[in-house]
Amino acid sequence: MFGLNKTTPKFCELKGKVAIVTGAAKGMGKADAIKFANAGAKVVLADISQQECESVATEIKKMRGEAIAVKCDVSKKADVDTVVSEAIKKFGKIDILVNNAGIFPFEPFLQMPEQNFEKVIDVNLKGSFLMAQACANEMAKQKSGSIINITSIAMGQVGMGFAGLSHYCASKGGMVGMSEAMALELAPLGIRVNCIAPGAIDTPGASSTRLDVKQMEAMLAPIPMKRKGSAEEVANAVLFLASDESSYMTGSVMIVDGGWCAN
Ligand code: NAP
Repeated sequence: MFGLNKTTPKFCELKGKVAIVTGAAKGMGKADAIKFANAGAKVVLADISQQECESVATEIKKMRGEAIAVKCDVSKKADVDTVVSEAIKKFGKIDILVNNAGIFPFEPFLQMPEQNFEKVIDVNLKGSFLMAQACANEMAKQKSGSIINITSIAMGQVGMGFAGLSHYCASKGGMVGMSEAMALELAPLGIRVNCIAPGAIDTPGASSTRLDVKQMEAMLAPIPMKRKGSAEEVANAVLFLASDESSYMTGSVMIVDGGWCAN
């Protein structure tokens, strides 16, 4: 069983699989999409920024991969339904969903307007729900699938609270609870649901928070590895959860944070 075998597929191979990645135009979503295409998957890139999404699809096609870009605001059910129907029309099925699209606008709790709270919950939490529900209904037909929800170490409980991100922490903690409930309901249908909780990752979204040097040093200080992670380092974990190599994992949260939560 454990012997070398030349016909054994590559570790974490996704040949023949169809994956949807939200927020795929840049940052971690882009890294996931490229990683999946390299592993042999056909990829549906869904993002609010269509032009940037198209250029990632072009990049994948240049690598001889298969990809389509679909404009989608994950908080809008009509957009979500379009992504799913385009995926089925082009590739015939959905095996993998990465709920990666997310926003993290820092704002003090005492001054946070109601609509800003709602917006973060709408995109991060409701968007993940809408995408997961639409995809799981397709996955149920084939009795298999893997859903990966990108939460954050800012999820409370085993993670941590984050000053200035009360709406974000609510959304990411909510994703963990929702994922656990989904794992229970969807296991009989052959669908696995897991979370990745990244720490400080170097992405365009994270750079736009514009921390000054002092704030950056303070953020990195409690991280044992003393650096930010790369989008690719997170994509390696996402690939593992997407692949059959993680076949006995569901309802779990994989922390990718350079040891931050261990501090
Ligand atoms: P990013 O660089 O900002 O990329 C996110 C992508 O999602 C962007 O292309 C963005 O478009 C798109 N997007 C935003 N709202 C959307 C919507 N309503 N529908 C569809 N697409 C939308 O972000 P990232 O840093 O890679 O983060 C990816 C995920 O990881 C997020 O869920 C984030 O909360 C989580 N995370 C990030 C970190 C970190 O340190 N970076 C840590 C923990 C967790 P626009 O750029 O046009 O808005």
